[in-house]
Amino acid sequence: MSELSDLYQEVILDHNKNPRNFREIEEAEKRAIGNNPLCGDKIQVFVNMDGDVVEDVAFQGSGCAIFKASASIMTQTVKGKTKEEAEKIFHEFHEMVTGKLDIETDDNSLGKLRIFAGVLEFPARVKCASLSWHTVNAALHDEEEVSTE
Ligand code: ZN
Repeated sequence: MSELSDLYQEVILDHNKNPRNFREIEEAEKRAIGNNPLCGDKIQVFVNMDGDVVEDVAFQGSGCAIFKASASIMTQTVKGKTKEEAEKIFHEFHEMVTGKLDIETDDNSLGKLRIFAGVLEFPARVKCASLSWHTVNAALHDEEEVSTE
């Protein structure tokens, strides 16, 4: 687990310092706001679709390093995926950070997101890591607001 932990730290630091797709899409077709009151993380997610495919996705917000890194990687992951594929990954991610999916033995398409298996050791951080996923899922379902509470 220590190799994964080193990678985790490295990736979190990198994405926190230099978040990807950190901008507003002014003409976004879909948008949602997410709140994690326990930590103070706040996010707004913007999505533009091309048919069933996520053509563009971006976020703005503020919060802790894990939240920001996770949101950054979420946008990279979801971009170019169909709504159905994005939902599948969201589901797997959620199962992973809540300990219901074992990345070593269970079939999954998490790829790079596997580094967030590390948050399992820090229960208070699970909501930080999953907030952006709940929010993009809300946006895809035309819900405007989501809270982890
Ligand atoms: Zn947080």
